[in-house]
Amino acid sequence: MGRLTHGADLLDELTGLCERENIRLGRIEALGAVQKAVLAYYNQETHEYQSFSVDSPREILKLIGNVSIKDDKPFVHAHVTLADETGAAVGGHLMPGTVVFAGEFVLQEFEGEDLVRGFDYVTGLHLWNM
Ligand code: ZN
Repeated sequence: MGRLTHGADLLDELTGLCERENIRLGRIEALGAVQKAVLAYYNQETHEYQSFSVDSPREILKLIGNVSIKDDKPFVHAHVTLADETGAAVGGHLMPGTVVFAGEFVLQEFEGEDLVRGFDYVTGLHLWNM
């Protein structure tokens, strides 16, 4: 468990933590607040992520994510739900460009074989090779 760094890029910070601690398989949860965010929605027709910006401070109601291997490195896949001052929520796939105001995370490492992401032609996503 730990604290997120004020001003850090949220996805970079979580990925960097996994790299430094050599965590290759795990789960992540976090809560707190962001100064702004970039999220994405995966378009199932075009097979492209459509990113959108949230350009004002928000509460992190929940970040949920996992750690697996992509291109031989720890890869964090996270989704986040954010709320404004009225409690209205928006959410999506966490992208680079989301700036931490403050936050707390739980990072849980699992033992076992690596889960490796590879390109899936049906969905256009990098899914786990099973
Ligand atoms: Zn996603």
